[in-house]
Amino acid sequence: MNRFPAFIDLKDRNVLIIGGGDEALRKARLVIAAGTVPTMIWSAIDVGLRAELGDRARIIEAAPVPADFKGAALAFIAIEDAPTAADLAQVARRAGALVNVVDRPELCDFTTPSIIDRGRLTVAISTDGAAPVLAKKLRTDIEALLPPRTGALADFADRYRGAVKSNIAQADRRRFWEAFFAGPIAAQVLSGDEAGAHDAMVATLNRPQTEQRAGVVHIVGAGPGDPDLLTIKALRLLQNADVILYDRLVSDEILALARRDADRFYVGKAKADHAVPQEEIEARMIALARAGNNVVRLKGGDPFVFGRGGEELETLRAAGVSVFVTPGITAATGCAAATGMALTHRDFAQAVTFVTGHAKGDAEPDLDWQALADLKNTLVVYMGVGKASQIAGRLIDHGRAASTPVAVIENGTRADQISIKGTLSDLLALIDAAGITGPALLVIGEVAALADAQSLNDIIAQERNVA
Ligand code: SAH
Repeated sequence: MNRFPAFIDLKDRNVLIIGGGDEALRKARLVIAAGTVPTMIWSAIDVGLRAELGDRARIIEAAPVPADFKGAALAFIAIEDAPTAADLAQVARRAGALVNVVDRPELCDFTTPSIIDRGRLTVAISTDGAAPVLAKKLRTDIEALLPPRTGALADFADRYRGAVKSNIAQADRRRFWEAFFAGPIAAQVLSGDEAGAHDAMVATLNRPQTEQRAGVVHIVGAGPGDPDLLTIKALRLLQNADVILYDRLVSDEILALARRDADRFYVGKAKADHAVPQEEIEARMIALARAGNNVVRLKGGDPFVFGRGGEELETLRAAGVSVFVTPGITAATGCAAATGMALTHRDFAQAVTFVTGHAKGDAEPDLDWQALADLKNTLVVYMGVGKASQIAGRLIDHGRAASTPVAVIENGTRADQISIKGTLSDLLALIDAAGITGPALLVIGEVAALADAQSLNDIIAQERNVA
């Protein structure tokens, strides 16, 4: 550690900024965020700076004189002329101020770190000038792990510090707070429900401490496969989880991002091979939450799009378990982006419909074929590969043109993505020729022609070449 980090209370202190350009403005923003009104002095002050700061800074358009530095706690020198900057730094230091000269570390008493500002929670990162870009990158990485309402959570905890002190024996207090920050009440504050969190906190503090602490279940969308498409919140929840229950559609790369010592349970869901029956998955989540665990139920795509997330939410709520839902990118929008196929391209479609092609055994999917054929918009079929020929046949029977473009995307957004396109009458031939077996979407409608995908002819030609 080359420099000593300290958090300075700047309220009611004199902060001086010498300069009137962009750098001066940046420093002004920083110190204003810390609750002070800086004095800015320079012979030429930018009009934009003056307009942005308004009365949040005292602005003096004049060359600085030694008397200006009297009583300054901090002085920032943000001017281009190097000799003048060095002189002013000396004057400021003599007046007793700690000095920062922009881009001149050798003249600085202090440097400004990369900052994450979450209200009362502040994270400051410094590489002592060695690699400012690295510091910024680290800031972005850490930023992703800190929910935007972390400051509110700190305030919330502060408000209950006294009550916790009087209700919970000292020996148990640290454990109490650890459980609090990992548990449902903190999740409630972070999701913006402070009123509910207050009620829950009062109830918890009034409960005998011998009772089990409550856990929480997060039903989380993992997106279509590419780990980069996880939401920031999903990533954070994975990194805080005690237990993760995941589906077949969740990729290994995503699981690799989870907390290393989290317990992981595969609960399956290959079509005919439900590794664990739904009721058992739900019962297991309830038991894990009641035992005080922070449970993540990780589901492919979005949990509320053909994912049975709705049933899980209802069951958990009925069991009195705290449960939260985090959305994910659903396969349709993931595959659309991955193939450059705008699902509602203005020239071709006014709407998009998501349907499930799932049906038991030989049965036909239970869909309103006439309505779907009449829509003439984009139709996205989830779980439809096994029934592709029935789906195409029914739509054509009900008047959708056999020449309607279709696209099939398997393992969309993953490294092994396959995308093919053709017409409705060729749908089955396409699927067979490409050997589609994994999770795949059918996209039916004019926009399918836009997809970056192989045609039936491409596939046949490719096979010939291989042979
Ligand atoms: N909740 C998920 C869908 C679950 S149903 C979501 O929002 O995406 C499972 C079906 O989703 C699969 O049969 C397939 O049709 C589709 N699917 C899921 N991931 C996919 C992917 N990466 N590429 C193509 N289709 C996918």
